[in-house]
Amino acid sequence: MKKIILFFICFVFACTTVKIPVTSEEKFEAEVEIAVEEWKGWYNDLRRVSNIFYKILKSISAEESLKGKIIFPSKKPFWDDGIRHIELKKLNKIDHKALEVITGKMLPKDGYILLPLPSMPAEVLIKPWSFAKKFNFDKEKHTFTYLVNGKEIKIKAVAFPIWIHFFVSMSREINAYASKGKNGYFIVIHRGICHFLPDDNQLAFVISHEIAHILRGHLKKRVGVNLITGILATGIAIATGISDLANIVYAGVMAKYSRDQEREADFFGLYFTYLSGYNIELASKAFITLGSSAPRSLLENFFATHPYDAERRAYLKKVVNWIKEGKTWQQIIREH
Ligand SMILES: [Zn+2]
Repeated sequence: MKKIILFFICFVFACTTVKIPVTSEEKFEAEVEIAVEEWKGWYNDLRRVSNIFYKILKSISAEESLKGKIIFPSKKPFWDDGIRHIELKKLNKIDHKALEVITGKMLPKDGYILLPLPSMPAEVLIKPWSFAKKFNFDKEKHTFTYLVNGKEIKIKAVAFPIWIHFFVSMSREINAYASKGKNGYFIVIHRGICHFLPDDNQLAFVISHEIAHILRGHLKKRVGVNLITGILATGIAIATGISDLANIVYAGVMAKYSRDQEREADFFGLYFTYLSGYNIELASKAFITLGSSAPRSLLENFFATHPYDAERRAYLKKVVNWIKEGKTWQQIIREH
């Protein structure tokens, strides 16, 4: 019935619709204008998430009390030089043109745009939005070599004992989730959640919570659901072309965790946030911030996978107090 009504509405109003007088070139230009802002905004969010993510990864990798107990090293270390690559051949016309506007250069169909991430060695050597014809990774020296403007730039990668990678997706959806790829685990942070959590302490808690799901083995039990192959297809080289991001967003099956697993991820999430030097009192209110500031329609998926209620809030407050009293995570587990 609804369809019939809709059909009539469209039919009746069709004759009164005024065709907007713009040419396809003008429309393309406007689309590019929008895409430029999206790419720039995405890179800002990527920088923000990377600052937080590496801070957490470095802090927990260095924490002796977690080694062999909470953190089980990967068979081989995860080498990361802190550069993200946009693969030009994967882009559509609009995005290709948008990147030409941002770089101020005519770009070929093949090659990479390089985006250095803060607090990693690459930042001083490579300017954001540089074009590289190609790059490769020396597996013995653990060095990436980029060909930028005919010059070779070598960047030594940093080794992490745990293989967790992160992506920031262009999606406006409010969500973040952990999943498993061919070469290891990864966390996807949607831009929507960055927007509604402007406080770094709170975003750090969300990221730590997802890391905790991985490190506590919650995903292993549901590998069948979460195994997404081909995402990290290039191995160590990480393609961040927009099409890849879209695949992750749509292929990513949100894991449903048990209540106990959620509690555990909350506990270690707050603990990791604390180890990384954030304010855990503020951090523990991340879900309250989301629930009170973001539109309900955008929150459905998030709260379906992260149920939040008074009990959870009360538990988080307790964890904050235990950590503030100076208790170690072993003590807290033993006593509570
Ligand atoms: Zn969770």
